[in-house]
Order: sequence, then C-alpha cells, then structure tokens
Amino acid sequence: MDIYRLPARTDNYIFVLHNPADNTAAVIDPADAPPVLQKLKELGATLVTIFNTHHHNDHVGGNRELIAQFPDAEVYGSAQDQGRIPEQRHFLGEGDRVTFADRTAEVFFVPGHTRGHIAYYFPPTSDDEPGELFPGDTLFAGGCGRLFEGTAEQMAVSLAKLRKLPDHTRVWCGHEYTLSNLKFAMSVDGENEELRSRLTQVTAARQQNQPTIPSMLAEEKATNPFLRWNAPALQSVASSEDPVTVFAHIRKLKDSF
Ligand code: ZN
Ligand code: FE
Repeated sequence: MDIYRLPARTDNYIFVLHNPADNTAAVIDPADAPPVLQKLKELGATLVTIFNTHHHNDHVGGNRELIAQFPDAEVYGSAQDQGRIPEQRHFLGEGDRVTFADRTAEVFFVPGHTRGHIAYYFPPTSDDEPGELFPGDTLFAGGCGRLFEGTAEQMAVSLAKLRKLPDHTRVWCGHEYTLSNLKFAMSVDGENEELRSRLTQVTAARQQNQPTIPSMLAEEKATNPFLRWNAPALQSVASSEDPVTVFAHIRKLKDSF
C-alpha cells in the first residue's frame, strides 16, 4: 500500500492510498475532488473507497464529485455523523475494522473536535514497517484539534487512545499546522530539549515550504503538549496532576495563543 499526500485548500492534506497490485485506490478526507482525480489519473487507478474522519467540509467537500466519477466507491464515516457526510454508506464506531488492499484498519471513536470524529489505524504488517494513523483533526503534529462539539474530557480520552499506539506509527494528520503548534508548545514546555530541536527542524522545513506530515508518534509523545498531561512541566503550568484538568488548561491557553 503506497500513501500519497496531496496538499489542498490553504493547509489541508488529502491522503491517497494506492494498491499497485490491482490499481485500486482509497482516499482519506478529500477536501476537494480535483487534486484526487488528478492523482488517480496519474496512477491510472480506480477509486474504490473514501474514508472520512469527520463531517467538516474541508474533509468531505470532495465526496460528491468523486462519487459522480466513481459511483461504485464506498464511503465510510462515523455512525455519529449520519446525515452529515455526503454519499456516506457505511457507519463506523469504536472497534470496527475496514479494509483496503491487503491491509485492515482499526477504527477508533475519538470525539472532541466533533461529536462523531473517528480515526483509522493500519497496524504494521512486519516488524520493520511503521503503523499508519489517520487521525483527521483529532491529533495534529505538535497539537490537537479545537473543541467544536465535544468536551475537554472527551478529547483527553480520545487522545489517550491514540497515545497508546506504538511509537513507530506514522501520523498523517489533516492540516499543516505544525509550526504554529510547536511555537505554542514552547510557551508551555520550553525546557523540553526534544521540543526545541523539533521546532528548529520544522522551522527550517517550512522556510523551504516542505511538508512536516507525516510525523512519528514517538516524537508526538515526546513533544506534543496535548499528549503530555503527565509531564511535570505541563502539570505545573496547569497547577494540577489530573489529566483532564491539565489537558483542558493547555487547550484553553492554546485557544487564545
Ligand atoms: Zn475539522
Ligand atoms: Fe479540518
């Protein structure tokens, strides 16, 4: 399974999964159809599946046009997003499994950014391969999604689920927000050496207009303040050792950063 990252709109990423064995493709969160159609044409591939993480237009905006071109493609999304995702035919929840090519993804129910948000995780097929996580707008490189429809408690539980995945997992999140996320992270976790060096790397990459996605879950665990509710530095910023309180406090600071 090959993964292609397509930039869309101002800072979105669409991901195309391609199975070279039979020239089929799946797409994750098509903000718009044209870049996907272009990529499919380049690959000579047939679209068989659309995986959506949540109902926001910058993640499902291309569904209708893609289904118009590939009427047999199946659209997967959250059961809680019923009626909110164009062309949706499959309604997923925690623990469901979906397949593409020779891979099976586990579905995690991760409400917080929206009330129906799900994430797709493809475990590695061998020891030297990474797992592939598509967290939509739940987990970002260096940050997490805003709480539009959920509570801090829901989001903290959702992020805790993703944090349990193996270090050697690539994180294919939905937006290029990494630089601004890490600048905020420095304001609450400035003594973190790994965070400092990550900010240096990401600053250099962005100066050359290079993408910072995917990141590795290991580096998220070490530098993303929204996965570090038990780090003393963040506990002291929030004056609490309670994970939800720490998360809620840091999220609030980020909202006004
Ligand atoms: Zn969103
Ligand atoms: Fe988004």
